[in-house]
Amino acid sequence: MLGAISGDIIGSAYDWHPVKRTSFSLFVPESTFTDDTVLTVAVADSILHGAPYAVSFRNWGTRYPDVGYGGRFQEWLASPAPEPYGSFGNGSAMRVSPVAYAFDSLDAVIEEATRTAEPTHNHPEGVKGAQAIAAAIFLARDGRSKDIIRTYIETTFDYDLRLSLAQIREDYELDETCQGSVPEAITAFLESGSFEESVRNAVSLGGDADTQACIAGAIAEAFYGSVPDKIETKVRQILPAEMTAILDKFYAKYVHLRPRM
Ligand SMILES: [Mg+2]
Repeated sequence: MLGAISGDIIGSAYDWHPVKRTSFSLFVPESTFTDDTVLTVAVADSILHGAPYAVSFRNWGTRYPDVGYGGRFQEWLASPAPEPYGSFGNGSAMRVSPVAYAFDSLDAVIEEATRTAEPTHNHPEGVKGAQAIAAAIFLARDGRSKDIIRTYIETTFDYDLRLSLAQIREDYELDETCQGSVPEAITAFLESGSFEESVRNAVSLGGDADTQACIAGAIAEAFYGSVPDKIETKVRQILPAEMTAILDKFYAKYVHLRPRM
């Protein structure tokens, strides 16, 4: 979860200014949290306090209205009678990470990931994006190897992970669909040797930088066992207190990572 938020904040500066390289400043004055962070916190809040996901999305979404939501999500937030709108945007994948810590089997994680997608992203590709990322995070925190994670994601969700990061990067552009950004974010993690490298890889694609770094960062935190202190310190300075309060409560209750040997 902290990995997701860190990726969002680091990627935020490069969302409209794509970089095609892994060397860039992690934090610049414009670095900020965006919709990915707000809705990740909303998912954690629901898990901690029992509100339905749709209620939390609206609660947090209306409190932080100007953080880069898609147009249809904004309409959903404003609607007096919000209905799922069949989205297959990558919003379902970027907000799902807390689920992977709060449930103790792969089946339960996938089922709950579906529930987080359904209020808005009830298109099969939208649901699949949430399921695949929650499953990848669960397997990573469960100590599984990258080979196992890769094979599981390819065979269960039919994402094609054969292209290397360099091959993807060549002509990759902004794509906010699950099917056009989630596999690439997973590859950013798979080709990394550290948390920081995962996030740098994701941003270097030059696509949906904050969301792809959020997704890669979420898996990387679970796999490598932590977010480096220097990144966590900066991220906490940027987050509002009511978000760090949810984060701390969630970690105390659900997150027990160990560094990978
Ligand atoms: Mg965003």
